[in-house]
Amino acid sequence: MSATRSSAPAYDLLAPLQPPTRYLFGPGPSMVHPRVYQALSKPIVGHLDPFFIQVMQDVQELLKRIFGTKDASILVISGTGSAGMEAAVSNFVEPGSKFAVFANGYFSDRLTEMAKRQGANVVRLEKPWGETYADAEISEFIRRERPSVVGYVHAETSTGALQPGRAICAAAHEVGALVIADCVTSLGGLAVDFDQTGIDIAYSCTQKGLSCPPGLSPLAISPRAMDWLRAKTTPSRSWYLDIKLIHDYSTVSHRYHHTAPISMFYALREALQVIAEEGVENRWDRHRRCHRFFVREIEAMGLRMHVPTEFRIPTLNTVVVPAGVDEPKVRKRLLDGPGIEIAGGFGPLAGKIFRIGVMGPLATEDNVQFFLKEFRKALSAEGYSI
Ligand SMILES: *Cc1c(COP(=O)(O)O)cnc(C)c1O
Repeated sequence: MSATRSSAPAYDLLAPLQPPTRYLFGPGPSMVHPRVYQALSKPIVGHLDPFFIQVMQDVQELLKRIFGTKDASILVISGTGSAGMEAAVSNFVEPGSKFAVFANGYFSDRLTEMAKRQGANVVRLEKPWGETYADAEISEFIRRERPSVVGYVHAETSTGALQPGRAICAAAHEVGALVIADCVTSLGGLAVDFDQTGIDIAYSCTQKGLSCPPGLSPLAISPRAMDWLRAKTTPSRSWYLDIKLIHDYSTVSHRYHHTAPISMFYALREALQVIAEEGVENRWDRHRRCHRFFVREIEAMGLRMHVPTEFRIPTLNTVVVPAGVDEPKVRKRLLDGPGIEIAGGFGPLAGKIFRIGVMGPLATEDNVQFFLKEFRKALSAEGYSI
């Protein structure tokens, strides 16, 4: 398969692809394990090949443990976390139905927007970005609104706040509603406890807590939600994200629906295998330990966390930008110097917080120390005295 070139091409050729070295301490994408890069380079097979069907099954089995479920159906959507969100909304939120959203950050706004585009009647319980909901206000809201579907964000990446889901699921089930949980940032980094929490539909992504490149969106669907879907007679508005069709391709008949991105499934299988080898609980513990260490050191620098202790996402720290410090300049110093990527806030939190991810391979005390040393330098250079 070689071609001889008769004359030089008439256009300039690019230099070979050479990505810079980056330490991804942002909210995602997070660092990828070398074994996952190796998996990406393996030869592809056909999307209906028995070998690939087995890879899909392996991925589903491994994901069950990480979601914390015995009976849920596991599906992997070809697309990033937002595709998972759109799959959840377009299959389960019907035009004209009432969709209740706990709105305390950017991604609950995205859920709202998607549900509106599906023609739903969206009702929201709003809170300032970074706050969470207490059990009593949850049940009061759901009893009052009696929605068909409820949506909340487990780990709100825009704020650093973690919303426990039990009270939401209990209240929703009391009124016969299904619950959609956004677990995009939480899956792999901390326990999702799908069954125990009572979630009906959870979607996630590959590039945050699972330490894999972006491109796929794992979904878990409770037996209750699958029954609801099977009983539904109107087809979902999205053909590509039709969960019945994708479930049939990936789990039941293995008949063609779309060409699954084979290499991404290889990558996800390897990333999940790396997690399984460490043990999911060990991984969550490691993240918690690093988070506590990070917070201790940050507070020792005289800085404050944006979210109260008990509602912090252990893998994504939101640190208040100290007065007088220009947040984008600190980030630029980190990126231009040591090649460290972190994120700033946006929306109501623009310029007010740093968003610092400590997850996957970066969640070790040494790596946190490396980060903090560079962070101190960048802050000092921007006029903050520690
Ligand atoms: C990143 C993120 C999404 C969107 O995922 P993409 O992979 O960027 O499409 C949705 N919800 C939350 C909470 C996220 O952090």
